[in-house]
Amino acid sequence: MQSHDAIVIGAGVIGLSLARQLQLAGLKTLVIEKHEPASESSYAAGGMIASCDPHIPDCLKPLAAASAQMYPEFVRVIELESDEAIDLRRTGTIAWFAHDDEPGCESARRLSIDELKRIEPLLPSRPGAWFLPERSLDPRALGRVLTKAAKHAGVDIVTGSAVAEILTATGAPQLPSLGNCGNVTAVHAAGVITSHATYHAGIVVNCAGAWAGQIRTNGPPLPFSRDSGERNEIPTRPIKGQMVSLVPASDAPQRGPIIQHVVRTPDVYIIPRSDGRILLGATVEDAGFDKRVDPDTIQKLHQAGITAAPALALMRIHDAWAGLRPGTPDNLPIIGGTSLPGYFASTGHYRDGIMLAPITAHLMTQLIGGHIPDFDLAPFSAARFT
Ligand SMILES: Cc1cc2nc3c(=O)[nH]c(=O)nc-3n(C[C@H](O)[C@H](O)[C@H](O)COP(=O)(O)OP(=O)(O)OC[C@H]3O[C@@H](n4cnc5c(N)ncnc54)[C@H](O)[C@@H]3O)c2cc1C
Repeated sequence: MQSHDAIVIGAGVIGLSLARQLQLAGLKTLVIEKHEPASESSYAAGGMIASCDPHIPDCLKPLAAASAQMYPEFVRVIELESDEAIDLRRTGTIAWFAHDDEPGCESARRLSIDELKRIEPLLPSRPGAWFLPERSLDPRALGRVLTKAAKHAGVDIVTGSAVAEILTATGAPQLPSLGNCGNVTAVHAAGVITSHATYHAGIVVNCAGAWAGQIRTNGPPLPFSRDSGERNEIPTRPIKGQMVSLVPASDAPQRGPIIQHVVRTPDVYIIPRSDGRILLGATVEDAGFDKRVDPDTIQKLHQAGITAAPALALMRIHDAWAGLRPGTPDNLPIIGGTSLPGYFASTGHYRDGIMLAPITAHLMTQLIGGHIPDFDLAPFSAARFT
């Protein structure tokens, strides 16, 4: 068995982006994925890079803005490395917000009815629209491209293997030469245990999304004791989202989507893809690990889409699916170390994991390398749950 410097648990967009970046920073990196790469939340996502959205908490706004800014170059490079395209669309978003909500970015602007009609003629002439300079992409393509790009960088990926436990050891660990990982002479992470094998590495990063909390350490408890005494798992929880995709009703070749912009209303969002598909999303449900699609819910989403853009009635339902967003007790991500030296978490990105993937990979690589991260990660520390 080849030895590795770092093990990343979970091959969603968060784990894959980080693994690629760690490998490029000089750490021999292994990703362990229990199913197939990018087959969970990252596969289910809509793909909006919604950095102007009012729902983004204040402490997350700087990361959202930085990640959105990183995206064009990030996509350019990984498309080159993988020889595949991601359908990064730069058309922008037209949004109506609830109440008096205002966009969270300065370059957003109000749209007059005339301008709305001109730039998106198939939308009803409703006042109060904003134009948001946001991008969107196809997360399924992003998952494929990131898998290829990670392999291209030299990352090893093991699939069909679930990590059950973090392996710990006592004494001075063999840490890679990337940087100072702190004073690690006591109990520290030493690898992972799966149902098939044990893998050794001085750095382990839990990127297991909504399932991150199912992975335990066999060392001392981690400091997550808020509600149920001492626990040794990362406090994530699944938040279900259902979506539906529409295609043109006729079989005539389609030159592109009938709506060009991402459209967001308080009831639904509409995401066009360049191949002509239109996605409608998404529910936000506290339903445990249930990923079943509910036909009534899909019909309601479809109806909400038609209310927002009546021209969508000309399209037919092509597919419907559900995914589990990685939520946390306060719905902020967990990005940073844990009380177990060498064991890190990068998860809980909830509704924004596609958007936040590039900046998260960047900051985690800085942190693991012993550098001061470009942004203050204190609000995202696992220690906030103690
Ligand atoms: C319907 C919906 C719409 C969304 N729309 C958007 C959007 O428009 N924009 C946006 O930014 N975000 C969106 N999101 C959120 C986004 O999808 C997530 O935040 C993001 O995909 C999280 O990525 P991840 O890698 O952490 O998790 P995941 O993609 O879920 O990856 C986690 C991986 O870990 C693996 N794993 C779990 N347990 C283990 C284990 N024990 N051992 C090994 N592997 C394990 C899983 O199999 C999985 O592959 C949406 C989500 C949903 C559900």
